[in-house]
Amino acid sequence: MYADTSLLRNVAIIAHVDHGKTSLVDKLMYQSGLYRSEELDRRAGGQHGLVLDTGDLERERGITILSKNCAVTYEAADGDTYRINLIDTPGHADFGGEVERVLTMADGALLVVDAFEGPMPQTRFVLQKALACGLRPLVVINKVDRPDSRPDEVVTEVFDLLSDLGADDEALDFQTVYASAKEGWAANSLDDERVDMRPLFEAMVEWVPPPRFADPTANTQLLVTSIDYSDYVGRIAIGRIFGGKLEARQRVAVIDRQGNVSNQQILQLLAFEGLERKEVKKVEAGDLCAVVGLDPINIGDTIADAGKPEALPTVTVDEPTLHMT
Ligand code: GDP
Repeated sequence: MYADTSLLRNVAIIAHVDHGKTSLVDKLMYQSGLYRSEELDRRAGGQHGLVLDTGDLERERGITILSKNCAVTYEAADGDTYRINLIDTPGHADFGGEVERVLTMADGALLVVDAFEGPMPQTRFVLQKALACGLRPLVVINKVDRPDSRPDEVVTEVFDLLSDLGADDEALDFQTVYASAKEGWAANSLDDERVDMRPLFEAMVEWVPPPRFADPTANTQLLVTSIDYSDYVGRIAIGRIFGGKLEARQRVAVIDRQGNVSNQQILQLLAFEGLERKEVKKVEAGDLCAVVGLDPINIGDTIADAGKPEALPTVTVDEPTLHMT
């Protein structure tokens, strides 16, 4: 898809449970036009503002957002249209390496912190890993609509946490956006007008760098970070292309973690759009995609050029920067 990676952003969303990650993603998608408008819903007789804000659908939405990547399109103040892949990050310590894997897909981290609670254990846990992956945080102080919120103190607590985690000056000089995911607005300062989520979209475009590791002329390498399963098409490999490109029906080499190579053919390529996946002909370095038709395929495998099968290095993130050994 997006040949111009300068218009692409891969953002990992990290937060302690209940600090508002789901609500925030929901509003971002809503406001980028991927859901029907609240006005239409109201006219249709819906009691809730959100299309999916009821019962089973609410659960489905929560699960969907929490288990999948999604993408939003945003027309920025500079006139360019950006595609932002929003990558959900599990907050739990018991996912054995999953947090690290997921973070390797991102180029920046959106750190959501409750304006009343402040940083909590999961905030610390995931933030530490994000820093280790070289991701610079963009801090969202959420729930500032709460009467008991204390946003200024919480910003200081985030700074102290970063400093305690050994963050460098660049990370300590983080951008802060205040938000109420519940009311659907974000602002650069607490005195600003509270209109919509635009300030947060702008901050993501401005503060998250375009994809690192995105040479379209390099040998093709996609790192499989998660696997989905569908009754119709079987295993679906999801990951980020670190170099080169993939095309639908392309013959590729799948290299497992032991280095075994199997030659296989891609049946379908899907890019993320909202919560949906859209079939595309080609996906280029820097972007995320879902690949249908490969089996065997497992988490940690590399999808590579059939002619030049080179595995991506094992990712270790126990050092202050992303190391590929
Ligand atoms: P997650 O666990 O981080 O995904 O958090 P959710 O988005 O599910 O939100 C957790 C709870 O906080 C829910 O009851 C939300 O309605 C509430 N919440 C989320 N954002 C806000 C906000 O901006 N203001 C207020 N007052 N409540 C919020």
